[in-house]
Amino acid sequence: MKLFNTLSRTKEEFVTIVPGHVKMYACGPTVYNYFHLGNARPFVTFDTLRRYLEYRGYEVEFCQNFTDIDDKMIKRANEEGITISELADRFIAEYYTDADKLNVLHPTYQPRATQSIEAIIELIQTLIEKDIAYILEDGVYYDVSKFESYGKLSHYNLEDLNPGGGERKASFEGKKNPGDFALWKFKKEGEPSWESPWGEGRPGWHIECSAMIRQYLGQTIDIHGGGQDLIFPHHENEIAQSEACNECTLANYWVHNAFVNVDGEKMSKSVGNFFTIRDIAAQFPYEVIRFFILSGHYRMPINFSDELLKASQNGLQRISTCIINTKFLINKNSFDASLEDSEETKELIKGVEQSKVSFIEHMDDDLNTADAITDIFNLVKIVNTATASGKVSKGALTIALDMLNELIGVLGIKALEEDDSAPSEVMDLVEKRAEAKKAKDFALADSIREQITAMGYSVKDTSSGPQVEKI
Ligand SMILES: [Zn+2]
Repeated sequence: MKLFNTLSRTKEEFVTIVPGHVKMYACGPTVYNYFHLGNARPFVTFDTLRRYLEYRGYEVEFCQNFTDIDDKMIKRANEEGITISELADRFIAEYYTDADKLNVLHPTYQPRATQSIEAIIELIQTLIEKDIAYILEDGVYYDVSKFESYGKLSHYNLEDLNPGGGERKASFEGKKNPGDFALWKFKKEGEPSWESPWGEGRPGWHIECSAMIRQYLGQTIDIHGGGQDLIFPHHENEIAQSEACNECTLANYWVHNAFVNVDGEKMSKSVGNFFTIRDIAAQFPYEVIRFFILSGHYRMPINFSDELLKASQNGLQRISTCIINTKFLINKNSFDASLEDSEETKELIKGVEQSKVSFIEHMDDDLNTADAITDIFNLVKIVNTATASGKVSKGALTIALDMLNELIGVLGIKALEEDDSAPSEVMDLVEKRAEAKKAKDFALADSIREQITAMGYSVKDTSSGPQVEKI
């Protein structure tokens, strides 16, 4: 498999540290609000990467954190008159409500930053002992001039960097370099704090991830993921902290997903052009939202619009209908034994095999889910043609159905359920109608058809039996 590595800016062959085993980390959400579509993209992307690696036989150890302490958490908790841990409990629960419905598997480890304070303190202490971190009046800072390869991920030079350091610009005077950033922030009035060797306070954001990676996965991991907006300064700083402390590489592959745009502008809370998953789910099934996210390559920006989501819904409907119809045909039990050797049967089996090969080729090419979905559509077309011919064996149809389910399963895509559940009653009627026709009771057959239509389905008589579609 090849993965685009932000470090080298090229697609590289993916080779793990331990054969057959992947250690992967992705930066998780700050749990002060519902998450929006832009936040959902990395969750779905790295879940899909994990699913695909497992499909290819790897054992994947995946850690995604919850950031439950930062300025936004403190502000919102104060506004609501609750503690940050009450706020975190609430939005972690809301996170799972949405993530589970998006079919995002739970990572192997999902720690909260505030549960890793000890690991954070240990890391900062090592950096102070190594003279890479220094203490100012309002916190402990990282000296970026002490880390020679600072900028290697973002490909920035130290001179390019604007004076920054996040929220605490006031302390700029004391900083040794404009790019130095806070590892530990000393307590301010009304802020939660923890004891440390340097004074009460709370961790900076970047140090959390470095500490949790070391605590849960080890000093060097295979893949580190996140949205492209995290490359600088967040991931650059994670590298500086971890590599200076551990004296070894933090991650071999840095994988970043592109943004979700609205009218050409990045969807973000700060711009205010965001749509929460909860809002979108009021209009579209979660299955469609996941399908929409994966229908673009993860390194290409995707545009959010109702039209594009509707197109995704139609696409997923096409796949779902094919699955339902094939299932129905297989259960019909009236297959002629001679069909085992028919040309159509051979063609179908060949088409199924080719679809799988092509799907893997595309996924192996830097997780190209866009082209992998095209492979699934091609398979749907092949299956539909085969069933319309009425000349395929039950065994071949079963193989085709299993493959359809296998490939959508790798992407974590589920067929639309509303169609899945409706047909059981509809299908009973379809059977009754077929019996009525067989008994030449056409008046009854017609009245059953009307009932089926009233339930929102059409029934078409084909050479391989009745085919049912949603109207
Ligand atoms: Zn992080």
